[in-house]
Amino acid sequence: MQQLKTVAFHTLGCKLNYSETSTLSRMLENDGFEKREFDDEADVYVINTCSVTENADKECRQIVRRIQRRAPEAMVVITGCYAQLKPEEIAAIEGVDLVLGAAEKFNLAKHLQDLVKGDSARICSCDIDDVQGFNSSYSINDRTRTFLKVQDGCDYNCSFCTIPLARGHSRSDSIEGVLRNVAELAASGTKEIVLTGINLGDFGKGNDGGKRTESSFYELIQELDKAEGIERFRISSIEPNLLTNEIIEFVAKSKKFMPHFHIPLQSGSNKILGAMRRRYKRELYADRVATIKQLMPHCCIGVDVIVGFPTENDEDFQDTFQFLHDIDISYLHVFTYSERANTHALELKPVVPIHIRNERNKTLRNLSYQKMQYFAAQHNGQTRPVLFENADKQGMMDGYTDNYIKVQTPYRQQWANNIVDWTLS
Ligand code: SF4
Repeated sequence: MQQLKTVAFHTLGCKLNYSETSTLSRMLENDGFEKREFDDEADVYVINTCSVTENADKECRQIVRRIQRRAPEAMVVITGCYAQLKPEEIAAIEGVDLVLGAAEKFNLAKHLQDLVKGDSARICSCDIDDVQGFNSSYSINDRTRTFLKVQDGCDYNCSFCTIPLARGHSRSDSIEGVLRNVAELAASGTKEIVLTGINLGDFGKGNDGGKRTESSFYELIQELDKAEGIERFRISSIEPNLLTNEIIEFVAKSKKFMPHFHIPLQSGSNKILGAMRRRYKRELYADRVATIKQLMPHCCIGVDVIVGFPTENDEDFQDTFQFLHDIDISYLHVFTYSERANTHALELKPVVPIHIRNERNKTLRNLSYQKMQYFAAQHNGQTRPVLFENADKQGMMDGYTDNYIKVQTPYRQQWANNIVDWTLS
C-alpha cells in the first residue's frame, strides 16, 4: 500500500469551511502528515467544497484535473457541503478517490489509512438527518484573528437555501467546549476571535440528538466575556429574529465584544420575505438596527441581501432599495439569486430574467459603496483602537478598528498583533 506522507488542502465557500479545513489540516499534521501548499506536489489532496458556489461541480472537476496533471498518483478526497449533497456526481469525476459526507469529514485520517488508488471512488456518506455530532474547529492563519466554529447546521427552511440539506440539524459545542478552545487560542497568541456558525444565534442545541440543552447564545457570550487572554470577540452573522435586545444591550456594555453586527436581511419587501420563508418582517429588522444605533451610534452593521428572487417585481425591489437606503447600516453583501436543486424556491413563478437580477445587484452594490463611504466619513478624526495584523504585505500592514473600519499603514514590527490607538483620517 502507498505510504501517504504529505497533504494539501483547497477550500471553497464560507468562513466555516475555512475553519474546518484548518482543523482537518491540524488533525492530519498531528497524525504525522506534512502540509504542502495546494500548488505543490503532495500525496493527498483534499478539497472542501461548498454548495453555495455557483457551478460547484465544474469547479471541482477543474481542480481535480489540475491535480491529476501535477501528481497523477496522488489521492484526491472531496468533502464538504457539495460532497454531502451530490456524492455520486462527485464520485463519477475521473481522478476522485474518496468522497466524505458531513458525518465522516473529521474521520479523514482513518479513511486515508486503507485508501487505495483505484478506478472508482469510495463514497462515505449518510443521510443528512442522521448527522448529529458536533466537531468544533478553528482557523489560525495570521494568529491575529481566528474564526472559531461554535455551531453547525440549521433547523430553518428558507426556501432558497440548501445548507440544511448539506449540513443537517442545528447543533452546537457546549459552553465548556468553546471555553476550552478559547483558552487554547489565547495561549497560541490569538487576539481576536470571530464566533462562527451556520445559524449562530441558535447556539445551544447540544449533541444529544438535536434536543435543546440549557445553554443559549446569550449565555455563551456572557461566559466568553470573562475569558482571559482574548482581547476581542466578534459575532460573525446572526439572524435578526435571534438577535435579542439582551444580546444587543450586552454587546453595548461589553469591552470585549466589538460594536459590529452582521445581520442577514435578504429582502426589504415583506412579500418576498414571506416567499423566502424568513422568520421576521422588515419592521423587526428596522427595530433591531434602531436599537443597536441608539445604544452604539458608532456600531458597524453589515447586511446580506439577495436580489432577483422569484416573484420579486420592480416594486418589491424598490421596496428593498428604499428600506436599505433609509436605515442606518454600514455595508451590504449583495447576492444574486440563483436556482438550487431541491429547494422550494424553484417552484415559484415568475422567475426574474438574469439581466434584471444583474442590474439589481449593481444598484445595491452602488448603494453599499455609498453607505461604506458615509460610515467611514462619520468616524473621520476619531481615535479608535486598531488591531494590526501580523502580515507584512510588501511593506504595508492592515488593521481593523473596533467597529470594523480598515486601516492600512507602513509595516511596523512593534504594532503587529497589537492594539494601537489610531486617529482615523
Ligand atoms: S437561516 Fe435560512 S439561509 Fe440561513 S442556513 Fe438556515 S435555512 Fe439557510
